Amino acid sequence: MNRSEQLQALTTDTIWDIVVIGGGATGLGTALDASLRGYKTVLIEGHDFAKGTSSRSTKLVHGGVRYLEQGNIKLVREALRERGYLLKNAPHLTSVQTFIVPVFSWWEKMFYGIGLKIYDLLSGKLSLGNTQILSKKETLAHLPSINTNKLVGGILYYDGQFDDSHLAIEIAATAIKKGATVINYCRATGFTKTNDKITAVECIDVLSEKKYSLKTKVVVNATGVFTNAIVQMDDDSQDDLVSPSQGIHLVIDAQFFPGTDAMMIPKTDDGRVLFAVPWHDKVVLGTTDTPIEEISFEPKPLEDEIEFIIKHINRYCTKLITRADINSVYVGLRPLVKQKTHISSALISREHHLTVSPSGLITITGGKWTTYRKMAADAVDNAAFIGKLNKEKCITAHTQIGDEQEKENRFQKILKEDVSLAEKIHTNYSFTKAQIVYAVQYEMAMGIEDILARRIRLLFLDAKLAITLAPMVASIMATYLQKDKNWEAAEIASFTQLAGQYILQ
Ligand SMILES: Cc1cc2nc3c(=O)[nH]c(=O)nc-3n(C[C@H](O)[C@H](O)[C@H](O)COP(=O)(O)OP(=O)(O)OC[C@H]3O[C@@H](n4cnc5c(N)ncnc54)[C@H](O)[C@@H]3O)c2cc1C
Repeated sequence: MNRSEQLQALTTDTIWDIVVIGGGATGLGTALDASLRGYKTVLIEGHDFAKGTSSRSTKLVHGGVRYLEQGNIKLVREALRERGYLLKNAPHLTSVQTFIVPVFSWWEKMFYGIGLKIYDLLSGKLSLGNTQILSKKETLAHLPSINTNKLVGGILYYDGQFDDSHLAIEIAATAIKKGATVINYCRATGFTKTNDKITAVECIDVLSEKKYSLKTKVVVNATGVFTNAIVQMDDDSQDDLVSPSQGIHLVIDAQFFPGTDAMMIPKTDDGRVLFAVPWHDKVVLGTTDTPIEEISFEPKPLEDEIEFIIKHINRYCTKLITRADINSVYVGLRPLVKQKTHISSALISREHHLTVSPSGLITITGGKWTTYRKMAADAVDNAAFIGKLNKEKCITAHTQIGDEQEKENRFQKILKEDVSLAEKIHTNYSFTKAQIVYAVQYEMAMGIEDILARRIRLLFLDAKLAITLAPMVASIMATYLQKDKNWEAAEIASFTQLAGQYILQ
């Protein structure tokens, strides 16, 4: 993944089959699917890949136990199928995770036991393992810090887990290998129309401020919670299509929640589920669901949300946490589909939402990371129809994401050139300096935030340490990007300010 090479492709006088706007899970999945079908595809992402919601998930590859409770069997079955594909196609970026639901009455044991057996049955051949009913003793063995007061037992079930932004970047790399052009820091700024149909996307390389016009047969808008701006760029009389609801996560040390099992609290005070999930030797707690007015690239947690999570976790665990124990707080925004307006709804009765505007703009939003592949398939099916492209079959259900051998070879090359890069960035973490170089050379990392937030996940794991290590990261990056001391200083200042928001005062 070389950004200059990718940019070069924009200067040619190509007529693209598909332009995808947005480099989160949905857009990247769409670019990969479209390139595999042989369509001439370009994806532009206004910030870094997965800067939006796609790096801020709870890190679950799941069917959505919550939807089962709502009786939405079709949706759960679809997501479980996608869970199976993802675990199979990206085994190095995903893992099977055991979850324990602690239960406090025989009724709960029966209710959740039966429900989670059905959950497993719905996954059919793609089952990750049998749901089991646990005694109180067994539950305690799985969750050593569980509060045993009134505990009756637990239910063990299997789901998947992953590293969201790593997966995003590897989907981008795979799409490029399959022929797509994929660029970060390139923002869509407008559309050109001929006879009221979109015929080009105007965009700007945010880093050089150079402008490009991408002639195209069809455009897919995959900008998540930023969807409204693109829809209104197409037609400024359109009402908002989505409204944001935020979910926060608190990251704590594993000593507060020891073991390798995750916990699912099936009913919080507001009737949602809450997870405690081991991740990169820490534990992610979340999430919340709070409608908000403003969208932002760096949404802020509300005090009530922080207290809500701490209160619920402390109700279930014996090692009580306080605000001082939070290593990082990160926030993601859900695009809730508000109204259909007068755009025709092309598909869909599922969780995701796809519309086609009179000018031919395809907008796809909602869904979840787990179902990104299916969303992409729907987007490309519609794009082929609207753009009058040759009808080609979707093959992503059986396409491997990433290339582990190639990655290993590249790391060997980096270390051969400078063996000192094998050094860890900090004694408490396994991340190495070579990973910084790798991200610059092969993953389009352009600044400290790209490294510490989305290539090495330190900002999400330990925000204070991330600030401490920023100068070292800047110095290594500067060498490989040929930047000067002024660049380093500016990068450190802006990252320090951003990372401050991940630390609870
Ligand atoms: C709190 C929370 C927890 C979640 N947990 C899970 C989970 O555990 N498992 C799961 O499966 N799903 C989960 N989800 C859902 C999942 O994260 C989302 O469905 C998914 O990340 C959405 O991806 P997206 O590509 O549609 O949007 P985004 O990731 O937001 O991507 C949109 C992109 O568009 C870009 N963009 C915006 N405007 C422009 C422009 N003008 N030009 C170019 N680019 C632009 C943005 O920079 C952004 O990168 C969670 C969601 C939330 C909110």
